[in-house]
Amino acid sequence: MKKANSILSIIFSIILGLTVVLVFYAIAGKNVSSEAYIGSFEAEKLDTGWEIVRDNGESFSDVTLPYRMYAKMGEHVTLSGQLPADISDGMRLCLRSTRQEITVYINGEERGHYRPGHSGLENETVVSGFFLVDLNDADANAKITADILFTESENGVVNGISYGYGNNVWFEYFVKNLPLTIMATILVLVGFIAMMFFVLAKDKGSLKAVFFLAEAMIVVGLWILSESEIRQVIFYAPSYTNIISFVLIETVAAFFSLYFNEIQGGHYERVYLILECGIIVQFLVNSILNFSGAIDYYRSLPLSHLWAVAVIIIVIVTMVFDFRSGRIKNYKYTAVGVSVVVFAAVIEICSFYMSDTCGFGLWLGIGLLALLVATIAQTIRDTIMAAAANEAKSRFLASMSHEIRTPINTVLGMDEMILRDSTDPRINEYAKDIHAAGSALLAIINDILDISKIESGKMEIMPVEYSLKKLLTDVRNMIQERAAKKDLNLIVDAQEDLPSILKGDDIRIRQIITNLMTNAVKYTDIGSVTLKVRGHREGNDEVLLFEVIDTGIGIQPEDMPKLFEEFERMDEFRNRSVEGTGLGLNISQYLLKLMGSSLKAESTYGEGSRFYFEIRQVIVSDEPIGDIDATVIENVAAPESVGCGFIAKDARILVVDDNEMNLKVVESMLVPTEIHVVLVDSGQRAITQASYRHFDLILMDHMMPEMDGLEAMQRIRKLAEGDSFPCKDTPIYVLTANAMSGMEEKFLKEGFDGFISKPVSSDELLKAVLEVLPEEKIVRVGE
Ligand code: ADP
Repeated sequence: MKKANSILSIIFSIILGLTVVLVFYAIAGKNVSSEAYIGSFEAEKLDTGWEIVRDNGESFSDVTLPYRMYAKMGEHVTLSGQLPADISDGMRLCLRSTRQEITVYINGEERGHYRPGHSGLENETVVSGFFLVDLNDADANAKITADILFTESENGVVNGISYGYGNNVWFEYFVKNLPLTIMATILVLVGFIAMMFFVLAKDKGSLKAVFFLAEAMIVVGLWILSESEIRQVIFYAPSYTNIISFVLIETVAAFFSLYFNEIQGGHYERVYLILECGIIVQFLVNSILNFSGAIDYYRSLPLSHLWAVAVIIIVIVTMVFDFRSGRIKNYKYTAVGVSVVVFAAVIEICSFYMSDTCGFGLWLGIGLLALLVATIAQTIRDTIMAAAANEAKSRFLASMSHEIRTPINTVLGMDEMILRDSTDPRINEYAKDIHAAGSALLAIINDILDISKIESGKMEIMPVEYSLKKLLTDVRNMIQERAAKKDLNLIVDAQEDLPSILKGDDIRIRQIITNLMTNAVKYTDIGSVTLKVRGHREGNDEVLLFEVIDTGIGIQPEDMPKLFEEFERMDEFRNRSVEGTGLGLNISQYLLKLMGSSLKAESTYGEGSRFYFEIRQVIVSDEPIGDIDATVIENVAAPESVGCGFIAKDARILVVDDNEMNLKVVESMLVPTEIHVVLVDSGQRAITQASYRHFDLILMDHMMPEMDGLEAMQRIRKLAEGDSFPCKDTPIYVLTANAMSGMEEKFLKEGFDGFISKPVSSDELLKAVLEVLPEEKIVRVGE
């Protein structure tokens, strides 16, 4: 399938390549004989032998056009000459006005007048453009006179004149302007594509520079088109193009200013802000003057150009600063592109004042394309660097999690031993406080890990079959103690006919509900916290509505929009004694988004809040969950019976950990079971032990110096292939402080039989032990 696809793509590429060759041949290889070729497209120039007479009587003979002259505004110049003998019907004269009003006479008869539609304002300059005069047989050798009225001051040129058949007179200009037109079109198209890219991108922050560059490209592209010599062919109304062109050229510098500010990381924001304000004020003043008829855009243009020059100077100066301070490293590729643009912009401004003809923008266009290439290179480089940095951050977080979890493991484990062994109520009270603080610290680490996973896009939803009833009772059991401590009523009101077995990511759903319930308890002092679950069937799915309602402090209306933002905590002063990081709701919202839902909230300040979400789960078993309250009572008692509910004197467990404290914690937790526990501090010693005698379970730490848990497990498995190996079928569980999501799956895939995360809780450990020990070795206590 894949192969066929790539073969097809190669074939299409070849076809396209050949077609491009043919296109070039068709363009260059004119005159293919016997084809209906439509003509030479040629136009003759009428540039020599003219006579020019100025208002003051000054005259110049045998003039060659174009002829640069500095006529005053309002001055008339008469251009006269003779038409050639080969003039015939169907031919046209093509004249060009650069802001001049022109009247053409042939043999004394007025044959053409150029002054395009305008607003009728008295002193408005005429829009530059071409105009055509129809000729006929009788015009051969006729005397031609053009009256040229200059509508701008001290600057002007008498342009060249050409003649030819029909629209052939245009062809020369077409060919001449084609590259520029194509480039301008490319600039506009690429600009729009880049903008679309920005609109669709998730992370808009890092693409702001691309957005501003896209805007600048569109502005320059449209400006080139509106200034193009052949703009009359592209746009029907030259007087509009004039306005378009001025608006664009007056504001273009601002777009560059925004772009430079962005790529320089806002370091010189104030300077750029001043420039942008200046540009907008200048633009507004010029527009008012233009539309009120006081001063034409064209005449106020030099002032706008000064802002463009100011932007160029600021860019150069700030880049020199950045170069000296080393900051330029952050945008070195773009800096090269910027240098090219600055250079191009300088040439552009010079050519605007020095060149006789229109067709500006070539230099700026080339510069911009270079900048685009540079920006793309920079973006790719930044993305690669960011990915590497992200990878480093994830590694750091994983190892930080490990480093912090290991000591907490010891603290909580030992604390559990104190709670179990001590009979002094004061000491028990202290131990409970240690337990609460340690658990809170763990919760914060878990939240930070979740946020880092979300940021690196590694958070995934893993649907499995689960019991809804168990989920609800577990959540209730978890919250009950907290609620009871604050004397709050905890109500779980679940519709009794909800299906008991569903398919979805129960771990994440549990996390969201627990977060909402914990918040409800945290932010409620009197009254109740209710978990309400309703559902209805849609096809094979159950659409569940979870609601967490409290009678707590509520949230102020102005805080509601910030509720789901990272690190945002409302009412900081009032809640200063309530622990929290402001990450929970943000994580919950993100998880729900991944599951195609979203978290909603309603609240009345001082009365209470309601957080709710809907979620669709596949139904696996229709059996109704029944009365949750009744189940709770069974389950509350359950952990007690696991904690000291069995002994297994004949069982033997091997515990492997390089950290002596961790060994001690596990050993202490297993004391009530009377299991024979063997402790070793390295992978090598574990192998020796496993080769020497049988164990019912091996608990293997993951991160150990020299041989890590994974390697030790693999070696034991290899040895187990031999028939006489004593630990042939012994399950090996990994003990790890690396609780990043997906770790459990990873360890199971690598060959471990189970996963116990640190800090190890005695409940979890005893449950695992009970699961793997052979039934005949277990003696249930109290049965
Ligand atoms: P935190 O760890 O601070 O509780 P969350 O993201 O879970 O972080 O919540 C963000 C903020 O929203 C809290 O600091 C609190 O101000 C407000 N909040 C959340 N739930 C409730 C609630 N049930 N009642 C009142 N305020 C709440």
